Amino acid sequence: MPTKPHSIFDLMSEESEAVDEAEEKRRQRKELLEPTGVKDLFKEGKISINKFTCVGGQCKLCIKACPTNALYWGTGEVGIVDDLCVYCGACVASCMVDDCIKVERTGEDGKVEKFSKMSDLIKLQEKKNAKKRFERVKSNAILLRRAYKEKNETKKYREQQKLYVDQEYRI
Ligand code: SF4
Ligand code: SF4
Repeated sequence: MPTKPHSIFDLMSEESEAVDEAEEKRRQRKELLEPTGVKDLFKEGKISINKFTCVGGQCKLCIKACPTNALYWGTGEVGIVDDLCVYCGACVASCMVDDCIKVERTGEDGKVEKFSKMSDLIKLQEKKNAKKRFERVKSNAILLRRAYKEKNETKKYREQQKLYVDQEYRI
């Protein structure tokens, strides 16, 4: 028997319910994370642990490294409390087995990052540092040019120039 097609109002109401649900979930998550003092920097994410490659009981390094207590030892394996995971990667960085813990996270800008070993995390960090450095150089260069253009104060220009050198070339 053919099903009745949804009206535009049904679709709109379903969409708004989905948004409410997502907001409620975020609110609850914020409450849960508050006592840990850890920031939730990613819009969404997922984490998995390969139980076949994990060395388990003799290790538990990931559990010790997790800043939010999202990992625990239970029934002979590492368990995950998904709502407490902020996808920071501390567990991946501490795990001695490559590709044992897999994290996928989406930033507020929609950018997706995936990693499962220390070298992945180092590469991600290097990329971020390069980007931050570029943004800083760019904004410093704009300020420097502006101060120079204004020409009314050598002092202002000198100060900006000093700041630029201090920030970009300090050891
Ligand atoms: S990514 Fe790992 S260390 Fe970070 S919060 Fe999640 S489980 Fe804990
Ligand atoms: S650090 Fe890696 S190997 Fe060790 S218990 Fe955690 S997942 Fe298993």
